[in-house]
Amino acid sequence: MTIRDRVKNLTPYSSEREKTEIRLDKNESPFSLPKQLKRRIMTQLKDLPFNRYPSSSSEGLREKLADFHSLNKENVVAGSGSDQLIAYAVKLFSGDRVVITPPTFSMYRFYSNLAGFDVLEVPLTEDFDLRPQQIKDAIRDSAALFLCSPNNPTGNAFERKTIVDLLETGKPLILDEAYVDFSGKSEIDLIKEYDNLIVLRTFSKAFGVAGARIGYAVASETTVEHLLKVKPPYNLNSLSETIAEVLLDNHEIIQDRVEFIKEERNRIYERFEKYSYPTEANFLLMDLDAHEFLLEKGIGVRKFPGRLADKIRVTVGTKKENDRLIESLEEFIESRTSSRLSGQQGR
Ligand SMILES: *Cc1c(COP(=O)(O)O)cnc(C)c1O
Repeated sequence: MTIRDRVKNLTPYSSEREKTEIRLDKNESPFSLPKQLKRRIMTQLKDLPFNRYPSSSSEGLREKLADFHSLNKENVVAGSGSDQLIAYAVKLFSGDRVVITPPTFSMYRFYSNLAGFDVLEVPLTEDFDLRPQQIKDAIRDSAALFLCSPNNPTGNAFERKTIVDLLETGKPLILDEAYVDFSGKSEIDLIKEYDNLIVLRTFSKAFGVAGARIGYAVASETTVEHLLKVKPPYNLNSLSETIAEVLLDNHEIIQDRVEFIKEERNRIYERFEKYSYPTEANFLLMDLDAHEFLLEKGIGVRKFPGRLADKIRVTVGTKKENDRLIESLEEFIESRTSSRLSGQQGR
C-alpha cells in the first residue's frame, strides 16, 4: 500500500501515562462530577433515543452554549473535544503555512501539518510573552496564527491589547481558551468586532469531563457558517451532547471547584515562588527537573523536550495530592541544594 509522505512523516500523538498513583500530568480536573450532577446526567441518558442519530450539528447544545455566552447559536460550533475543532478550523485557511508561538500546545502543529501547512515558529520571550512585531511580520505571508491564553504549558495569559493588535492585521487568529475559567479573562466578546477570530473552548478542564470529549468554537456567523461546511455531520455523539447540556444547566456547581483549584494553585505557587512561573491556569510550570524523582514517589507530572527540558508542568490536584506534591518537591530541592547553586537559576 502506498501511503502519502505527509502521513508517513507524522508521529502519532502519544501521551500514554505512567501508572502513577497521583496524576498531575494532564491538566485534568482532580474531581469527578458531583453526585447530584451525575444523577441528573443519568436521568437524561435513560430517556435518550439510542437508536437515533443525534442532531447533525448539535443544535440543542449550540443553543445552550449561545445562551451561556449571550451570543447566537450561529456563533457556535460544537465538536468532540476542542482538538477536533482545531482540525476543522485549519481547513478554512488559504496559504502555505501557519504561525505558532512555542512553547505551546502541540496540537496546532499536528493538525496544521496534517492539513498540508508548514509551521513557522515565533518563540515566546524569556518570560513567555508574545513578540507582537515578529508575529506580525510572520503572519503577513501566512494563512493563520494560533495563540493559547492562558498558554499551555507556560500558564501565563496574554494581554488583551496585544491580541487586539494582532487581530487588526485581519489574519485568521485561533485563540485557544481551554484554561480561561481559571484566569477569568476571556476575549470571546471580540468575535463581534473581529470576523477573523475563532475562540476555542473545552469541557475537558474546568468542567471536568475530559473523558466525554466535548469542545466548541465561537466565532462570527460567517466563520461559523464555513466551519459547519467542513465539519462532518454527527461529529458529537448524543451521550456527550447530553452531558454538556446538563453541565451548562448547572454550571454554578462547577464554580466552587474552579475557586478551590485557584486557591490550591496559589498555595503551591507561593510555596515554590522561586521556581514557579506566574500562572493563570490550573497548572504550574516549574524550574525543577523533578520528573523522575516524582515518579518514584508515585506522582506523575509532565516533562517536555527542548527549551523546557529542565522543567516540569504540574497540574493542581486535590488537597491531599498537592500536599504530597509539596512534600516531595521540598525533598527534591533539599536533595540537590548543592547542584542548584552552581547550575540553573531559580525564579
Ligand atoms: C487540554 C487542552 C485542550 C482541550 O482539548 P480537548 O480536545 O477539548 O480535550 C485544548 N487546548 C489546550 C491548549 C489544552 O491544553
